[in-house]
Amino acid sequence: MIKNVQSYIMPTYGQNELEFVRGEGVYLYSAENKKFLDFGSGIAVNSLGHCHPKLVSVLKDQASKLWHTSNLYYSSAKEKYAELLCKSTFAEQVFFTNSGTESIECGLKLIRSYHSIKNKSYKDTIITFDNSFHGRSIAAISGQNNPKYTKGFEPLLDGFISIPFNDLNILEKTINEKTSAIMIETIQGEGGVNPISIKILDSIKNLCLKNNILLFIDEVQCGFGRSGKLFSYQWSNIEPDLMAVAKGIGSGFPMGACLATKESAVGMTLGKHGSTYGGNPLAISVGLAVLEEINSKGFLNNIQELSNYLWKHLKDLENKHDKIIEVRGAGLLLGIKTTEDNNKICKLLESKGLLTLPASDNVVRLAPPLIIKKKHIDDAIEIINQIM
Ligand SMILES: *Cc1c(COP(=O)(O)O)cnc(C)c1O
Repeated sequence: MIKNVQSYIMPTYGQNELEFVRGEGVYLYSAENKKFLDFGSGIAVNSLGHCHPKLVSVLKDQASKLWHTSNLYYSSAKEKYAELLCKSTFAEQVFFTNSGTESIECGLKLIRSYHSIKNKSYKDTIITFDNSFHGRSIAAISGQNNPKYTKGFEPLLDGFISIPFNDLNILEKTINEKTSAIMIETIQGEGGVNPISIKILDSIKNLCLKNNILLFIDEVQCGFGRSGKLFSYQWSNIEPDLMAVAKGIGSGFPMGACLATKESAVGMTLGKHGSTYGGNPLAISVGLAVLEEINSKGFLNNIQELSNYLWKHLKDLENKHDKIIEVRGAGLLLGIKTTEDNNKICKLLESKGLLTLPASDNVVRLAPPLIIKKKHIDDAIEIINQIM
């Protein structure tokens, strides 16, 4: 443990003395070799846990062959992976990025280019939702209307209006001829683990169709199996026009993608967008292996079974402990709203060897790797029970 040393890193993340030096499956090991059960997954990132043998193997293999060429050249692996992403979803085209924010940025440009090419540039306003999180770029924070992220960074970009989440009435009243798109997380992660109502999602889709509005879903946090389906919109009968993904896509390898229908992407023609690293061979090799694993027989069913098991045990704790106000969420993205300070609860859990994540609205967020087993859930429940 290193204390009170001068840091050369900008202090945007505050200080934490806990350092991990090794990860294996659902466990992380600190510099002092203390073992932690990881129910944070590096913020819903390590979908297949730490150092999954298959991912280590494909990455090592790729690392000894080819790291980078640039998107100026053809890549059959990238084509194959893009095809698999499309065949697993509503999408027909993919743009590869390196992060969630970049996937959002690509989507925002796609929306503007779509209405521009249709000679409807007057459609210049994207509806977003209170407590949403879409990243930290100027465009992303402009869409969030949350002083926690925007203060000191004004002027923000025009072209966004934020309204309450899960309120169809207000949404209907807000839509007008200037509305270009609706950008929404199907499960708000940072905002406190709030799933959208499937019924409202259905209605949103209808409103989009009726008013020539693009539906932009942000599944950066809740995608890639976390909800028990490959993507959480797949619990409904609707399909978005475009979707941003990242986090779980690479199980720890930095990557992301913006997925879209061919029609919505009509404006994204030659020269309209770019990325030096997006779709880098290392990322593609890992991404393909992750997707094959999540798509493998029984994988998603197992997540549904595990999440029911975790949900039931958390509900028992909710009934038992006054400090728990509510358990909410979906799949393996669950939140415990507590009467105590959520950061304090997370620290207490950490001291007992369980890693979790704070979220807004005083929520302790659980986002374990999708490869957990019942015994890991039992261990986590036992620790939560102890400290509540
Ligand atoms: C994390 C997150 C982002 C931003 O992703 P980065 O990889 O941090 O840029 C965007 N949207 C949602 C829903 C997220 O959870």
